[in-house]
Amino acid sequence: MASVAVVAHETRDLESWVLDVKFGGGEFLFGRFGEGAQRVLVDQGLVKLGRVRGVFVTGPCTSWTPVGGVAGFLIAGAAAGAGPIVYGGRNVRWAMATLRGVEFRQEVGFDVRYAQGEIVNEFMTVVPVELATATTDSGADEEDDIGRILDGMGSPGWSWPNQGMLRVPDSERRSMCFVIRPHARPGRLNVAEAERLGVPRGAAFGQLRKGMAVTTLSGFVVRPEMVIGPAEEQDWIVVVDLPTRGFFRAALDVDWATAGAGGGRNRVGTVMHILGPDIDPFGAEYIGFMKSFPRTCKHIVAHPSYGSDNVTLTRSARLRTGLAGLWPTVRFPMAVGSGHEPTMPSPGDVIVERAMAECVVGDVDEICRRMQAASMAGQSSSSSAYGVECICIGTGSGSPSVFRNVVGTIVRMDDGWSVLLDCGEGTYYGLRSMYGDDEDVLRSVKVVFISHMHADHHLGLLSFVDGWMRASNTDDDLYVIGPERIRAWLHDWSQMQDEFRDRVRFVDVAGAAGAAAGNMGLDGIETVGAIHCAQEEAYSVVLSRRGIKVAYSGDTRPNHDFVCRARNATVLVHESTFEDRHLADAIKKGHSTVGEALLVGMQMRASNVVLTHVSPRYAVESLHDKLADIWGIVSRGLLDEDEDGMFLCRPVTAEDRQWCERVKVFVGLDGAVFVI
Ligand SMILES: [Zn+2]
Repeated sequence: MASVAVVAHETRDLESWVLDVKFGGGEFLFGRFGEGAQRVLVDQGLVKLGRVRGVFVTGPCTSWTPVGGVAGFLIAGAAAGAGPIVYGGRNVRWAMATLRGVEFRQEVGFDVRYAQGEIVNEFMTVVPVELATATTDSGADEEDDIGRILDGMGSPGWSWPNQGMLRVPDSERRSMCFVIRPHARPGRLNVAEAERLGVPRGAAFGQLRKGMAVTTLSGFVVRPEMVIGPAEEQDWIVVVDLPTRGFFRAALDVDWATAGAGGGRNRVGTVMHILGPDIDPFGAEYIGFMKSFPRTCKHIVAHPSYGSDNVTLTRSARLRTGLAGLWPTVRFPMAVGSGHEPTMPSPGDVIVERAMAECVVGDVDEICRRMQAASMAGQSSSSSAYGVECICIGTGSGSPSVFRNVVGTIVRMDDGWSVLLDCGEGTYYGLRSMYGDDEDVLRSVKVVFISHMHADHHLGLLSFVDGWMRASNTDDDLYVIGPERIRAWLHDWSQMQDEFRDRVRFVDVAGAAGAAAGNMGLDGIETVGAIHCAQEEAYSVVLSRRGIKVAYSGDTRPNHDFVCRARNATVLVHESTFEDRHLADAIKKGHSTVGEALLVGMQMRASNVVLTHVSPRYAVESLHDKLADIWGIVSRGLLDEDEDGMFLCRPVTAEDRQWCERVKVFVGLDGAVFVI
């Protein structure tokens, strides 16, 4: 039997509605896949990544929102040995092709298809139903071009084309819906009857199950219908996505009960309705639509008014609550919402329920206790000397984990000017779970710095920019400093949303960013080539403003050049991917250890050091546990030599010792604000 369950619903930290359809040997996901969907589905343990065979995106795919989580899904899926096929409306291929400039670190199968005609596999037939608000062009030529781009993606030696790409015209007027028809289950073999007729156990049983006749030793021919019961029909599942009222008329014109089945018996058992805010699911009209399905059918309603005023990533939120008030210079702003769960009206003779995923609460008390016991080196002073906040939205590296999302840090000055340093998938939603509807911090961001093209540093850019544009004044501009390929990505999306062109100012990270410093509200800015990855240029950055110097490493080995440019930094935000015992990995992968990051801070004479970009291989509390030891090693100058011989075991000077006593160090935690 196919089992059907809602596995993601919309909350403050997740803009997704996902229905999971599970069979004995495969799993398929239907709905809208916002950023963080992969993290949530895996974190909650509701979906086994390696089993997911298909991702079916509903709706029009004309904003990043319903597809923002798909790339993360493909990357994580590839790592888990799965290569789900992505199906969606005619713009889904365009949306995914805009990622052509993204450097994926492992080969990622990029099988994205415009859902047309019946999709048949060993479990089911899926019938795509594309609703249109108006008669539109075919868009066939553009589909071909996009197909050529997609076909090459993920293959070795593939390079991205330079030319601009036209989105599929009129795609906003089409919304993709699906009718899922699980295959009938084959009837059961009546073992007793087969044996009575003389069929030997083993291979002959298998033959009968496959529909083949078997001749017994006595020469008697046993045909399958003599021993196999009737096939069991399974209920159909319908996923209707109506982003606006404009699509409702078209939905009424579809014969959902027979879609593609040539007038078969009506067997719809479940309908998921993903609805835009201007549709009233309990208005007479919509109830009438629900009544056009069989009376026994269950209707699952996904509607913004019936979402949760809550967070989905509850374990991470509970950890933050547990740690609040622990360290004098660290705050944990929390906007988990009221927890209010709206109730739905229950109209007579229609079975309706809210689209709600199971929520995993999990116990984090032990982790809190360990972190409370851990000493925080350099945490003695509680005074805020500079009026600067370092807002750690995500502090992980590579891929998101339960307690650490991929990297994103805002440095905010007390006159309300901020810079966002890298923007991994889900950065915008992390900010929402910290500040809720209070958009002051979001609005204060004037500059976004993207250090390099690895997905954990930039996949959240589009939703961040989108959210920023909605929150800020229409005459404000946002500066995005990044590799040239970021420009191409923003350019592609400006074809969907004009504002990406009108309000976003791109600055090439490899060019003279300094020339634009004044416009960005800065006194100076320098980018420094990082020591990270042979295939991909990466950069560190040093910003100065009103006597405050902010240095951010991006991904890098300890870098003497960076140290020189960032001397006496007010705050150094440095990657610390590995613990010191994994120095060999740090060298191999072009990253720094915690001890190395602290040494860089020492050489710079940074007043404050924030460590971030921690590998998901470490438990969230482990760096806090070990910081005192690492600190001892650093302050005695005992760290091992690295391959460049840059950080030798060396005598510690009196000045070094003074710095150790003066500096404040914070091991970044998601959702924490370090006040300096
Ligand atoms: Zn990284």
